[in-house]
Amino acid sequence: MKIIKKFVPVLVLLVLSFYIFGRYDQLPAVVINGIVFLPILLALTVLGLSVHFNRSPVFFYLLLIVISNVVLGLGLAETALSYAVMAFFIPLLLLVFTLIPERGVFSVRALPGYAVLLTSILSFMVLTINAPGWASQFLLNDWLPARYFDWSRLPQTVLMSGCLVFISMLVLNFLRSSTHVAAGLGILIMLLAQFHVGDTSASLNVFSSAALLMCLYAVMQESWRMAYLDELTELPARRALREKFQKMGGLYSVAMVDVDHFKKFNDTYGHDTGDAVLRMIAAKLNKVTGSGSTYRYGGEEFTIVFSGKGVDDVTAHLETVREKIAASPFVVNREGRRLSDGQAGRRQKKSVQVTVSVGVADSNSAAGSPWEIMKLADKALYRAKKQGRNQVCN
Ligand code: GH3
Ligand code: MG
Ligand code: MG
Repeated sequence: MKIIKKFVPVLVLLVLSFYIFGRYDQLPAVVINGIVFLPILLALTVLGLSVHFNRSPVFFYLLLIVISNVVLGLGLAETALSYAVMAFFIPLLLLVFTLIPERGVFSVRALPGYAVLLTSILSFMVLTINAPGWASQFLLNDWLPARYFDWSRLPQTVLMSGCLVFISMLVLNFLRSSTHVAAGLGILIMLLAQFHVGDTSASLNVFSSAALLMCLYAVMQESWRMAYLDELTELPARRALREKFQKMGGLYSVAMVDVDHFKKFNDTYGHDTGDAVLRMIAAKLNKVTGSGSTYRYGGEEFTIVFSGKGVDDVTAHLETVREKIAASPFVVNREGRRLSDGQAGRRQKKSVQVTVSVGVADSNSAAGSPWEIMKLADKALYRAKKQGRNQVCN
């Protein structure tokens, strides 16, 4: 579901660009004149945003789009071999830049990315100028009957490697669902379409604009995530809660959830295990029934907001999620404990119960803003703690 959601804008752009490309000749002159400037405008915008937000994959995608446009637009790949070299290298580089971890744009850690790009450009130049026989033999050879491939100007090796890169990117989308991987797949399709069609102004303008729009989508989506989502739990964070509160009116309930004795848990099992517990609890709270929206308020505290529902309507849903958390034992490793057979220093698995306390209040409890209602929920939470924890109070 998450993957499909990330892929929808990319899919819409793909369909739209093929539609516009098919009808390019019928576009009004004013649109065609304007569309010429679109790739330049978009490239400058993506450059500014990817550098500002330090998003290296999008920055390298941008470089690949610009390079392929310069090579095609200036006719730098006139021979069959140089065209094949370009169409072979760029999809592979796209895969490499998707796989390289995020390392900033202008940092020492980003140097491998630049090294790969520079080596590829030099290889392209050497292969284009020297045209060695082995390169032609590899890239331009017909491995399979030519009639299966006569629908494209691209040689068989390039089509097959493009296909392999496409499958790898598709698999990556399932393994590592993120906006930039989804955008990377869309950009790959756009670049392959561009190489397939060749250097017509229609393909240069439409497909590169679409590829750049995908970069823009990725960089904006990532900055939205940074601003609104909590990094550890991936739940909406306090800023998102503040915006939700600004829009709320009528009947609603606010619940405050706090992990019990969490300091002791951290002290016993370490901060990393504590983080894993927080992620597990966040995932459970995020699935709360009754249409509640869950936020990480901060630390080990979460807020659940139910619009259009009073305390009586939501208590059962909160009880259910509290019970689910209490009934899900968390398996931890304890270092250095002696096992029963006397072996020292071995890791022993141990199952620990983690519980939460919940305080809830609704908009009927007091006049005032959602923040006032939240204060009442906090007081109810304090009562839940005092009465022995692992319970819901209102
Ligand atoms: P109580 O049952 O009364 O809530 O006790 P408590 O120990 O949970 O409460 P306290 O407020 O004393 O401690 C909260 C602890 O939560 C302290 C802090 O180390 C831990 N904590 C807060 N945020 C994080 C986080 O992001 N990761 C981890 N691992 N621990 C966190
Ligand atoms: Mg607390
Ligand atoms: Mg606590």
